Amino acid sequence: MSNASPSAGSIEHRTPTEGTIKQLYGTAWRCGEPTCKKPLYRLNGDTGEYILNSRIAHIHARSQGGARWDPDMSEAANRDASNLIPLCDTHAWEIDQTPQHFTADMLREWKRAQLAEYQTLQRSWSLTDAEVTDVVAASFTTLEERLLRGIHAAAESARQDERRQRQRLLIADTVHAANNWTDALQAVTLSSASDRWNRRAITEWVADNGNAMASDMQLIRSNARKLRLETRYRNLLEALDAAETAVGNPEVFDPIWRGSTTKGEERAAIYRHLNHVKRAFLNLAEIGIKILADPS
Ligand SMILES: [Zn+2]
Repeated sequence: MSNASPSAGSIEHRTPTEGTIKQLYGTAWRCGEPTCKKPLYRLNGDTGEYILNSRIAHIHARSQGGARWDPDMSEAANRDASNLIPLCDTHAWEIDQTPQHFTADMLREWKRAQLAEYQTLQRSWSLTDAEVTDVVAASFTTLEERLLRGIHAAAESARQDERRQRQRLLIADTVHAANNWTDALQAVTLSSASDRWNRRAITEWVADNGNAMASDMQLIRSNARKLRLETRYRNLLEALDAAETAVGNPEVFDPIWRGSTTKGEERAAIYRHLNHVKRAFLNLAEIGIKILADPS
């Protein structure tokens, strides 16, 4: 029957409570290293914002095997304010990297001096809950955890960039195909007004250009389908619906398909419709540019 001590590194006390962190920042103004002048938050001279410039350091480490680890210390004592001291990032790093130079007694002396200074100056930091979260992340996540989190964030951001790029290309191709399609119809409508344009000529034109127009239409349809799968932006989906509806095959084009010479009012209706289609795709392009702009 063994009563073996836990293996190395197996004990890890919980991090301090939010209340303790607020208390620590509420009773200190600058780094606890007595000669260090760095305030716990530094002012960004350009934006006027305060930026976290410090961390909570443990006098006796939170994890077994860490700096100044005390096997006899209870968890309650370990996460108590008396075992914790706010330090600038450099000093927080230094006392854990070279613990032989920074004994627990020495750090307790720093802490007494920090509190004494607060007693005199009454200067400290009043943290919001969000700021406490920042302090916890800066103080108690390992560098590895923070690096991994950064890698995940970068990968996710790259995925989003790719998705936006795919959507931009789909929209650009779709708008290009729609322009070709409307240009072709505009050309035949315009030509049909001339006397030299007879039924046979129109039939030939449609035969010659029909394939290109059909493939433009096919591209518009299939890109619209892909775009619907790719995007969740409601404005973009609405613009896409409007454009696809506009380019649908309305009766306004019947005179052309019949190969008859179109009358003036029929041509006017066709032009109106073509302008409507162009506007709808232009709108799709504009919304796409706005929504899918690179975040800066
Ligand atoms: Zn410092």
